[in-house]
Amino acid sequence: MTKNYIAGEWVSATEASANINPSNTADVIGEYARASAAEAERAIAAAYDAFPAWSRSSIQQRHDILKAVGDEILARKEELGRLLSREEGKTLPEGIGEVTRAAQIFLFFSGECLRLAGEKLPSVRPLIDVEITREPVGVVGLITPWNFPIAIPAWKIAPALAYGNTVVFKPADLVPGSAHALAEIIARAGVPAGVFNLVMGRGSVVGEAMLQSSKVAAISFTGSVPTGRKVAQTCITADPMKKVQLEMGGKNPMVVLDDADLTVAVDCAVNSAFFSTGQRCTASSRLIVTEGIHDRFVAAMQERMRGLVIDDALKAGTQIGPVVDQSQLDQDLKYIRIGQEEGARLVAGGELLKRDTPGFYLAPALFTEVSHAMRVAREEIFGPVATVTRAKDYDEALALANDTEFGLSSGICTTSLKHASHFKRNAEAGMVMVNLPTAGVDYHVPFGGRKGSSYGPREQGRYAQEFYTTVKTAYTFDGNAPFVPKTKGSE
Ligand code: NAD
Repeated sequence: MTKNYIAGEWVSATEASANINPSNTADVIGEYARASAAEAERAIAAAYDAFPAWSRSSIQQRHDILKAVGDEILARKEELGRLLSREEGKTLPEGIGEVTRAAQIFLFFSGECLRLAGEKLPSVRPLIDVEITREPVGVVGLITPWNFPIAIPAWKIAPALAYGNTVVFKPADLVPGSAHALAEIIARAGVPAGVFNLVMGRGSVVGEAMLQSSKVAAISFTGSVPTGRKVAQTCITADPMKKVQLEMGGKNPMVVLDDADLTVAVDCAVNSAFFSTGQRCTASSRLIVTEGIHDRFVAAMQERMRGLVIDDALKAGTQIGPVVDQSQLDQDLKYIRIGQEEGARLVAGGELLKRDTPGFYLAPALFTEVSHAMRVAREEIFGPVATVTRAKDYDEALALANDTEFGLSSGICTTSLKHASHFKRNAEAGMVMVNLPTAGVDYHVPFGGRKGSSYGPREQGRYAQEFYTTVKTAYTFDGNAPFVPKTKGSE
């Protein structure tokens, strides 16, 4: 059984959970430790004790550690990508791509350590200097979802350590393998004992212990809306209150206008809706298509979807891997039923598929004749299920795109500069894509949404410092008497 990493040591747990390959449920990747609340508390105490020294550690030391982590991840991207795809079910190229991104994030933040800066300003009062500096927050609890097993941990752990915080990291139960491999790399890179701790286990046990501990100063959470809401409520009502950052669900729209390049639009839609098995918070599950291109778009989507290769995530040529587990598959099938009961037309996919090995294989589903009141058009499904809604023109398409409680990513396919510019200004989302899939972002710029999708400061890029640091404003009066410079002849 693999162990948790607490206070600089690998620690056995009394409980374990099996990590199952969704492409082949007979393949058990390993038995992973499940921490108890007491073990989580030990990790929190270790991070708390390690904070004073780490918060004052040199930026060179932090840089060197993060650089070593990034370098090792990159050097092992094929092997780690294979592990990731085996436990999560995204295709091998997607798995290797995600691992590469995790490495790039560590390398980016190794550089950010060296770029930490403050400001020095004159006061509005005489003989006083004002300095504005950033300081680490303390122990940060990092809670992550299963759909990006290494990139999301990376984009929380790297800035947390770069800015001098100590970390307690709780990965999602379904993907402990990537988390464990990442923790081994971080431990090997020379991070002092207690600065980084891995506690695998249940949200209701380990996550809850992090939320309840007065030693944890901040929680960064990525996951579903119901869990996020609970996390925020607990952090805000805690004593002392905790800083909290939430990245949650999406129901991201992609608008296709009459003047769109049809090939670009279909490429964007298939990628946005179905790649990574539709299990991306930035996936586009709502395709909003204007009248003039609607029928051609639907026909082209059906044609493309017929050719999609859905199979074992590790097989060469697979374009779409399995759904992550039985419970997510049940949710996808439930919504496919709901869509049909609501009167939407299932024009492609939606059926279970048999492959060489027992796995959670589902043919990506496309609904047409979808009204915006239907549940399939409003609720996050988090699987390879997309809807097509007709809009009479651009204005109606924009209104439909914004008519959602979510606001993570929003896309448009058009060749009109006027509509692209208007959409960028008026889409109610944290990220806007023009002639690009709604998913697929850079690692050096901010990531996050608005409305029900996000809460608190942005993640990634240099914007990450808003969450992982706290600002201090210091005033200095530089003497009791004004300094009068001597002039020639005055002595
Ligand atoms: P989830 O909310 O079920 O779990 C997320 C994490 O919270 C897991 O580690 C889980 O163990 C933990 N958790 C559960 N109960 C807890 C509790 N009571 N206290 C503390 N922690 C607890 O989400 P999931 O199913 O793992 O992930 C899918 C969701 O994540 C989707 O809604 C998706 O949109 C969202 N997501 C959002 C982003 C983003 O950046 N906006 C990125 C990826 C995924």
